[in-house]
Amino acid sequence: MALPPKLTPEQRSAALAQATISRRVRADIKKSVREGSLSISGVLELAKSDVAIGKMRVLELLESVPGVGRIRALAILERLGISIPRKIQGLGIHQRNALLQEFKTPSLARGRLIVLSGPGGVGKSTVANALRKSSDFWVSVSATTRAPRANEKDGVDYFFLTQEEFDRRIADDEFLEWASFAGARYGTPAKAVEGALAQGRNVLLEIEIEGARQVRSHSSEAILVFLEPPSWEDLVSRLEGRGSDSPERRAHRLELAQTELAAAKEFDVVLINDQVEKVVGSLLSLARSTG
Ligand code: ADP
Ligand code: 5GP
Repeated sequence: MALPPKLTPEQRSAALAQATISRRVRADIKKSVREGSLSISGVLELAKSDVAIGKMRVLELLESVPGVGRIRALAILERLGISIPRKIQGLGIHQRNALLQEFKTPSLARGRLIVLSGPGGVGKSTVANALRKSSDFWVSVSATTRAPRANEKDGVDYFFLTQEEFDRRIADDEFLEWASFAGARYGTPAKAVEGALAQGRNVLLEIEIEGARQVRSHSSEAILVFLEPPSWEDLVSRLEGRGSDSPERRAHRLELAQTELAAAKEFDVVLINDQVEKVVGSLLSLARSTG
């Protein structure tokens, strides 16, 4: 680019240095837009205080947007009444608003994190399985060191892990929470839960009480729900009716259940599991409620 002849050599080299910096700034901005880490509205905001960005052509900016090639960029400019050489700093208010409208990204509300806990045998997994059929919830699949029961599938009911693999995941901080329960270890894979929440899905964790306490201690967004049996007799008959535990394990579970029931007061909501559909309905209302 020819520079005005009246510049001194010092002024000339300073101007060249400035032009190089400006080009670099614009290249960085376009890279961020291409990678999706900077939005059009973000660039327009930055351009208000950075002359180098303000001098970027709108066409160049649009071409950097993922999925918008030169042809689409030109078509957008024409439709919005923006001339091809127009720079960001030269955009009129209506052109600016039209651009923002064109590239508006729908804001994705974060999903709700609901923790369902309660004594063993109260019906937590029955409720969680019923919720799996609802599109309103994503039910987290836990990892465990216990052996699969006859009807359980790896990756569906649990991720069945060896003790060594479970240890590794603890060491690598891969669990949102984990706890020992009745001779086995159970943990919630953190990444999957965070991913689902970020995508706007409501997430249900069906976990025992110690794990629920851990979630409470490092997540302020979680809603803790305690599931209670209609009566102690119901709990005993449900544990016996399930028939999946040995008599010794069942006796141990009943003993545990007495202490577990006392934890209800630590929870945000207590639901009585007299009917599975009723509990499912309450959880759906909780997820849909705001604030
Ligand atoms: P948890 O996951 O809390 O240990 P389960 O979901 O395995 O409990 O339920 C224990 C037993 O109770 C199962 O046999 C299940 O069919 C039964 N059950 C669950 N909910 C109800 C209910 N509302 N009424 C009657 N039986 C139930
Ligand atoms: P079960 O062996 O009957 O499937 O589960 C035993 C207990 O472990 C249940 O109370 C269940 O809620 C709990 N549990 C299942 N997954 C997890 C988990 O990821 N973390 C914790 N803390 N408990 C879990």
